[in-house]
Amino acid sequence: MVITLENYRGIVDDAVITEIYRKARRLYNKRILNINSTFQGGGVAEMLTTLVPLMNDVGIDAGWRILHANEDFFGVTKKIHNALQGDKIRLTEHKKDLYFQTNENFSVYTHIQHDIVVIHDPQPLPLIKFYKKRQPWVWRCHVDLSNPNEEICDFLKPLILRYDVMIVSHENYKRKELPIEQKVFYPAIDPLSVKNRDFPEEEFDNFLKKFVPDLHKKPFILQVSRFDKWKDPEGVIEVWKLVKEEFDVRLILCGSMATDDPEGWHIFGRIERKYSKLIESGDLVLINIENNFLVNALQRRAAVVIQKSLREGFGLTVTEALWKGKPVVASNVGGIPLQIKDGYNGFLLDPTDIEGFASRIIELLRNPEMAEVMGKRGKELVREKFLITRLLSNYMDLFTELLGCG
Ligand code: UDP
Repeated sequence: MVITLENYRGIVDDAVITEIYRKARRLYNKRILNINSTFQGGGVAEMLTTLVPLMNDVGIDAGWRILHANEDFFGVTKKIHNALQGDKIRLTEHKKDLYFQTNENFSVYTHIQHDIVVIHDPQPLPLIKFYKKRQPWVWRCHVDLSNPNEEICDFLKPLILRYDVMIVSHENYKRKELPIEQKVFYPAIDPLSVKNRDFPEEEFDNFLKKFVPDLHKKPFILQVSRFDKWKDPEGVIEVWKLVKEEFDVRLILCGSMATDDPEGWHIFGRIERKYSKLIESGDLVLINIENNFLVNALQRRAAVVIQKSLREGFGLTVTEALWKGKPVVASNVGGIPLQIKDGYNGFLLDPTDIEGFASRIIELLRNPEMAEVMGKRGKELVREKFLITRLLSNYMDLFTELLGCG
């Protein structure tokens, strides 16, 4: 069944729903095109999966196209992504060529007759160069831009300047050196997706048993994240080793491999080799398949959820865990403090503070009542601020403004 706005009644206020229908009136039949570089894996694909059908449901002609690219291209764009988050980059002529050529090729057979184009993230950013501009173009950047590498900024700047608006996920990601209009849209989750909806407990358990031997033998703590250095999976293992000295818990690291993220396999392999004994014992469980129902089951069954990112654009995995009533022990970086108030619905720590992480996790494991209270607060915060209906509303306001039909 394709999701419609009506399905959100009972989850958000009726006033939220009617407001969206009202905003839609000005946008009937307007054609909006979203372009990103993967249809699954990562937060962008996740949001588009719901947003695009919902836009259509309320009367907007919204489309979604995926940039066609190969592994080499994604190798380069991953480096660009990392550099935007502060890494060094060596931009060779070959890399630049691949970046532009892939976009140019795609532009040749991708005809754009839409009223607005929304480009997501750096991979399809150059597309704008290869079209005669006939409509507003929006660059939606989901990356943590608080501390970017300057070389990459200089390189991308001429492209970004061509856009009408740039949207970032946090006030701190706005860039002064870019004299274009910049707005903040917080990301959001879909409470009705397979990843977030509630299902009978035994269905979750039966499924989890396929991945976690003797599921009920001991509780587990969890981090769901791509195997990416910014998500610091090895740091999570170090934290867990300290927790384990006090509490007999497992650690599950679940991280699917996005097609636009070639580094993942490398990191996964390294962890597998380095911690083979712990994996053999069944105490450390590594999962690398993409499955929304599995993520849902894991987040619901986890005793505590961790998000030990070194950088984090927003951190949808935090939102998802909060929605399931879990307290989250997380790094005080990027978009995470927008979602966690320290000591209220989870704990915030410096990402290097391994002992601090461990002691907060132990505290929650010792106090299940406290964990429950925090979890309830987290769920309400997400209901109020981070559900997909709010994001839909943000986009509709933007489209109305850009089309001058307000
Ligand atoms: N995700 C998933 N399976 C995994 C790992 C991640 O489905 O094994 C999803 C996760 O549930 C979330 C998204 O990918 O919806 C990750 O978004 P986030 O903002 O946390 O990080 P990003 O990957 O965009 O940096």
